[in-house]
Amino acid sequence: MADFNELPAQVWPRNAQRQEDGEVTIGGVPLSEIAEEYGTPVMVFDEDDFRSRCRDMAEAFGAPERVHYASKAFLSKRIARWVNEEGLAMDVASLGELRIALAADFPAERITVHGNNKSANFLRACVEAQVGHVVIDSAQELELLDLIAAKAQRVQPVLIRVTPGVDAHTHEFIATSHEDQKFGISLATGEAFAAAQACLRAENLTLVGLHCHVGSQVFDGEGFKLAAERIMALYSQIHNELGYALKEIDLGGGYGIPYTAHESPLDIKAVSKDLLAAVAHTADELGIEPPTVLVEPGRALVGASAVTVYEVGVIKDVTTGDSATPQRRYVAVDGGMSDNIRPALYGAEYDARVINRYTDGEEIPSRVVGSHCESGDILIENISLPNDVAAGDFLATAATGAYSYSMSSRYNAAFRPAVVAVRAGMIKPMLRRETLDDLLSLEVD
Ligand code: PLP
Repeated sequence: MADFNELPAQVWPRNAQRQEDGEVTIGGVPLSEIAEEYGTPVMVFDEDDFRSRCRDMAEAFGAPERVHYASKAFLSKRIARWVNEEGLAMDVASLGELRIALAADFPAERITVHGNNKSANFLRACVEAQVGHVVIDSAQELELLDLIAAKAQRVQPVLIRVTPGVDAHTHEFIATSHEDQKFGISLATGEAFAAAQACLRAENLTLVGLHCHVGSQVFDGEGFKLAAERIMALYSQIHNELGYALKEIDLGGGYGIPYTAHESPLDIKAVSKDLLAAVAHTADELGIEPPTVLVEPGRALVGASAVTVYEVGVIKDVTTGDSATPQRRYVAVDGGMSDNIRPALYGAEYDARVINRYTDGEEIPSRVVGSHCESGDILIENISLPNDVAAGDFLATAATGAYSYSMSSRYNAAFRPAVVAVRAGMIKPMLRRETLDDLLSLEVD
């Protein structure tokens, strides 16, 4: 059995290390020092880890600007600046995300905008900011955006979000015509082709490419490949029937990452090779230069860059019948479903370690739970924890960078945690912990 004190490299930030005294540091900073200074729960981002994943992804796809960071995974002004400094582009999926990116001086021309139901207000803000791409999600939106761009006397570059009929959701891969979902314009019914025609007719829109996204936390590279092939069939149809060689193909995000020690990462280099080959193959058949391939990963860039540190509180052993041996130990921490809804929402699994010292107790079946008034408030359903874990220890869950803070809530009037970045022995606060004043500031007496 692996030593519980070891940090599984595939789920912990690249610069996390257990020191000789048992303390875990990230970027040279002891996590318990951060916990004491900022309180718990606290999220800690390894800046160099994030930047190195941006570079790896840029290398896999040939250039940084081809990689659009999906900011829904986690967004703050500081991370927007890192993305900008690394030369990546950025996806936003709401007016709030757009405003945060712009507040961080992220260049609007490198912003791509998503959403299945963008409001007129949101679209106006996109046009006014002169964002690089709006991804059109419906025929209705196409008409609305054309009108808005006309009023602003602008021509808005757009992509069409195509539903390629590939459902590649978590751990299951069903290559059927999966049309029954809210996103995108159907390829199979010909509506995507009709949308391309409408875009080419629209005076205030420029069609620069096609977009698709097959799902999130996907490990089967075949799903991405199949979607790329289907999109390229539409690309050919547009080329052959409308005489238009689109410049860009955006193949979305969704690259799966490991969350526990027994999972392995997706081979992004192999995926990128397949995707680039699928696009080059069609271009070759058409005798044209291949369009630029864009991708928009969120989780694969930021997921493993952060950990969440909690303080252990109540420990409860559950025994049944006359057995003296506990069946399960419940280890309660001072956060829970408000700072990480993923386990409750879709059964997501996590790795956790005690980070303030070595543990040497016998490992026993345990469940890490939060402090909310909800029995489903579980952070880790099944984990073997050493039986010497005690109240006052700091326990950290790894790979919480994506879709934890961004999906956080104020359930039970919880304060959202503080978020800090670490690098070269320094702590840089990113977001302060919410306070009672933040909560009360919404009250209208
Ligand atoms: N692009 C689109 C359109 C998405 O909907 C999502 C996530 O849902 C992403 C990119 C990012 O996905 P991931 O964080 O899994 O890479």
